Amino acid sequence: MSNTWFADIILPLAVRGRFTYRIPDAMLSKVKPGIRVTVQFGNRNLYSGIVCHIHENPPDFENVKSIIDIPDTVPLINEKQLKLWLWISEYYLCSEGEVMKAALPSESSLNDYRPRLETFIELSERYSDNELNGMLDNLKKAPRQQDVLSSYLRLTGYTSGSEIMPLSRSLLLAESHSSAGIIEALTGKGILKQVYLPVSRIAENESYKEPVRVLSEAQSIAYMSIKSHFTDKDIALLHGVTSSGKTEIYIHLIEEQLKLGKQVLYMLPEIALTTQIILRLKRHFGAVTGVYHSRFSDPEKVEIWKRVADRDPVTGYRLILGVRSSIFLPFSDLGLIIIDEEHDGSYKQHDPAPRYHARDSAIILATFHKAKTVLGSASPSIESYNNTVNGKYGLTELKERFGLIKLPGIIVANTREAYRRKLMVSHFTPELLQAMDEALSKEEQIILFQNRRGFSPYVECSECGWIPVCIQCAVNLTYHKGLNKLVCHYCGYTTQPPSKCSNCNSTGIITRGFGTEKIEDEIKIVFPSAQVARMDQDTTRNKNSFNKIIRAFEERRIDILIGTQMISKGLDFENLTVVGVLNADNLLNYPDFRAHERSFQLMEQVSGRAGRRQKQGKVIIQTSDPANRIIRLVLRHDYKNMFKMQAEERETFNYPPFCRMVKISIKHKDRAQLNHFSDILGNDLKAIFGKRVLGPESPVISQLLLWYIKTILIKIEREKPPAKAKQLIIEAIERLEKEKGASALKIAIDVDPY
Ligand code: ADP
Ligand code: ZN
Ligand code: ZN
Repeated sequence: MSNTWFADIILPLAVRGRFTYRIPDAMLSKVKPGIRVTVQFGNRNLYSGIVCHIHENPPDFENVKSIIDIPDTVPLINEKQLKLWLWISEYYLCSEGEVMKAALPSESSLNDYRPRLETFIELSERYSDNELNGMLDNLKKAPRQQDVLSSYLRLTGYTSGSEIMPLSRSLLLAESHSSAGIIEALTGKGILKQVYLPVSRIAENESYKEPVRVLSEAQSIAYMSIKSHFTDKDIALLHGVTSSGKTEIYIHLIEEQLKLGKQVLYMLPEIALTTQIILRLKRHFGAVTGVYHSRFSDPEKVEIWKRVADRDPVTGYRLILGVRSSIFLPFSDLGLIIIDEEHDGSYKQHDPAPRYHARDSAIILATFHKAKTVLGSASPSIESYNNTVNGKYGLTELKERFGLIKLPGIIVANTREAYRRKLMVSHFTPELLQAMDEALSKEEQIILFQNRRGFSPYVECSECGWIPVCIQCAVNLTYHKGLNKLVCHYCGYTTQPPSKCSNCNSTGIITRGFGTEKIEDEIKIVFPSAQVARMDQDTTRNKNSFNKIIRAFEERRIDILIGTQMISKGLDFENLTVVGVLNADNLLNYPDFRAHERSFQLMEQVSGRAGRRQKQGKVIIQTSDPANRIIRLVLRHDYKNMFKMQAEERETFNYPPFCRMVKISIKHKDRAQLNHFSDILGNDLKAIFGKRVLGPESPVISQLLLWYIKTILIKIEREKPPAKAKQLIIEAIERLEKEKGASALKIAIDVDPY
């Protein structure tokens, strides 16, 4: 009797555990780890799952179902991808199915995947030079046909008997300023013919690739330093001031890997940044360069997916520029992962699960490929810098800007003082106004940073202080003037602004504080002849809006750009000389152990946009607390002391990187029930972990979409492997889930939550 084989299958569900199915004998030869299979789950539902593990151990339940179908002939995901899925699920305490959902483009687009065909034109047979000349002569009476034919010959470089190259029909039309009818006339005569080819199969014209630039002396030293770290370490941290030429060093490291036939993943925290860097990369590396981010449609994602899986050195992607989800692409042979702006909080996914950190996961991915990792930043995370102090990572520094341009001069403008002396013009200090005036008179450009979007953070009754809040989340509503609506930035709920106070009936409703939209309004009044634009979540909802704003700023069609976080990172504008930080206070006062690190990074980052070419830039930081320690450190661009101060504080109070943290959030629609259940879990955990458990407490946002929320924070020691502690946490949650009435709870686990 032959043995019975089983497969453990990952299904796209948020349920912990794997699902075991029998492999019918006829399918035995086809079932491999990573292959897609169709199975029945529940009563009727058919699911596509991914085979994870094949074995001979019958599961301990009756009526084991069999795999129904295998739609693909080859595994959809490779062994290294599967390993990464399993690592993420284990480390971040989520189901393998949740990782699967985040990692794969949607099911239907995978099934419907057809390569996109494009019409190409080619010469219908080989001609000698004489014959060609004769043909062109014969077309004298049809000069537009003659034009098209000679354009084709010019663009493909065809000469007597050489290889016939297909040319994109749309390109030919554009280049010869011709119409479809003219091309048809030529195909009718049998001179040209149409062919249909998949777009991705055609390598773009490679002839205009630019050689990489020669590194400056400081850059060469840094480059060699990274290479020498790589002889005994897998990870190097490149700490280089803004505009020191880090990107140029990455380009050299990339070139070297591509020459070795390896793939490279270049990660950025923000889609907006990909726009400029992709052009720089394509200039040197051409068509093997691809971009990946969440704004692509599912069919586009599938196309990119296939090209990454394509191992052909011409048609496949060898270099991917991507944001966090790009770690899930089907790389087969990575030699290097670059994580630029490695300190950036956007690398962490908060919701939904998998709540993974893309930098940390990429480092793991690199080990599966035996690849090296470069982390780059002008203000590294405390974690990464600490890893250079303890010798885990190599440290490479670049202390000067490329071309020895000076770092921008920073001016701290005291808003409290300016208000007192009545020198403020709306939200602008005299220092900022003067710098802006000067820049505008020299036709230089300006960026103003405000980390809140909308018009006003809230409206308030001037009589009694009543503030309208979201009916679903209990969060203050933000006033958007363009919409004339109050909007909840957490759930999107909108409502009319009230005409009177619902507490005291007073009509004295006033707006408080300011967001990007309000700044835009006021700037237009103060500088009526300047061109003003705004870049925030509200103005960049569709795929091309980033490009449009960035392009317009590059082409100097915008004088003043106002924006949130988005404009603070990585962008490189030639003519930008003045950067204003409108309100540093609300960065510094955020209630979070990372607030100081983050505000230092943000101010350093946003100042880094100024004066990147010939001219030295100027940065004006507005604050009511000019003596603040962090601001003093930013003034001197003093990263090292910021690190020392933060590291000491974190060690004293036991925060990361000196411990690991796991955050559990528990939600219930009834406040009393929530308190009841969160206390049960809190006490259970305290019996195991003692003082290392903080909470349950109400988070800053304690109600969201009609759900009340409580959080419990557990600090786990660094020295011990976290698996044991995590297991105990899972078991405590499973005990809670068995309590009567606990099914109405929503429980989420977040590992390394900040
Ligand atoms: P960073 O990534 O550190 O902010 P970039 O790599 O963007 O710095 O470099 C800053 C500016 O200097 C860019 O405009 C870049 O084109 C230029 N630059 C950097 N290195 C070189 C080089 N070796 N040769 C010519 N230009 C360079
Ligand atoms: Zn009132
Ligand atoms: Zn809401």
